[in-house]
Amino acid sequence: MFISFEGIDGSGKSTQARLLAEALRKEGLDVVLTREPGGSTGAEEIRALVLQGEPDRWSPHTELLLFTAARRDHMERVITPALTAGKVVICDRFADSTRMYQGLSRGDIRALVDRLHDMMIGREPDLTFLIDIDPAVGLARAKGRQGHEERFEDFGLDLQKKMRAGFVDLSHLFPDRFRTINGGRSPEEVAADVLRYTQDMAAD
Ligand code: C5P
Repeated sequence: MFISFEGIDGSGKSTQARLLAEALRKEGLDVVLTREPGGSTGAEEIRALVLQGEPDRWSPHTELLLFTAARRDHMERVITPALTAGKVVICDRFADSTRMYQGLSRGDIRALVDRLHDMMIGREPDLTFLIDIDPAVGLARAKGRQGHEERFEDFGLDLQKKMRAGFVDLSHLFPDRFRTINGGRSPEEVAADVLRYTQDMAAD
């Protein structure tokens, strides 16, 4: 099973991805916990190229190509082999983040994101958790831990709001695989919902 976590910065999705991995491992499942941008050696190098460079070093189109190349490498080297071996793959962000950040944050190139995805990736997760949170709360949380890879100085609250609305739209576009979870609660409460939905999906 291939599970992704999505949401705006500061939504708590990385914590939830880790908690789900721990819970499933306790059940005896073989779990690969990975992340994007990155997740393979080459893709982590591309992540550094994009997130640690000057904010306008890459044009929106070039950034999309770089992140698509990173995802392709991540799929080839990590995700597909693990799924083929029957493992559970949990990915902190996947193509839906590119639909939002590369697709909408610096102009609208959403259609191009989808075309490239069809050509070069061609697979969606079986289950996607949208950890939904108030954009101002997310921004405050994320700023509290701001590191050199965070992009809020250029992003800010307006973009957080736009991304949050965009993720909700995406959840309606892909209702079969999206589960939207209220992320404004304690990590344990959120994790309990995530585990329940995962067990429901596995039982199907
Ligand atoms: O999820 P994570 O905190 O690792 O993301 C690092 C930064 O990269 C965040 O500021 C996020 O908004 C941004 N990002 C992006 N495009 C993506 C994924 C993440 O701009 N496809």
